[in-house]
Amino acid sequence: MTQSSHEEMRRLIACSAGDLSQAQQAMLREHLQDCTACRDYAAATADIVRALRGVPLAADSRLIRQTQARVRARAFALRQRQQWLTLVALACPLVGLSAALTTPLIWRAFEWIGTRAGFSPPVWQVGFAFYCTVPALLVSVLLLLRGTHLAHNGHSQESS
Ligand SMILES: [Zn+2]
Repeated sequence: MTQSSHEEMRRLIACSAGDLSQAQQAMLREHLQDCTACRDYAAATADIVRALRGVPLAADSRLIRQTQARVRARAFALRQRQQWLTLVALACPLVGLSAALTTPLIWRAFEWIGTRAGFSPPVWQVGFAFYCTVPALLVSVLLLLRGTHLAHNGHSQESS
């Protein structure tokens, strides 16, 4: 291959593929299959084109705004989660304390109503157990839902 044919191919490489005729594209493909030097040149050209396309994108103000908004949203979500966890941490001992104070009273109330209504002790005792466990179950389901909701939000923030 002559030096001029390499020059010719590099001129074709510098053109975008859309500007070349079918014959020129075929000729270039054939040349690149055999010529390592021109193949390297084509790869380097493609890299530069990609890099040049990347520059305005990196400086695009829309992208910067989007990124800033995303960072702010992420910080907000983290702060909310922190507040929620603090709330839960504060609520737990309060709930425990109120349960410890009220449970004997509720037990008495169930006993009184049960005796008054003529139920046998197992019946009102089951009622009492039900009364005590249902709120706890509801709260744990709520916490679980809230937790997965937060985890899901955090996840989608990262992946988008
Ligand atoms: Zn060549």
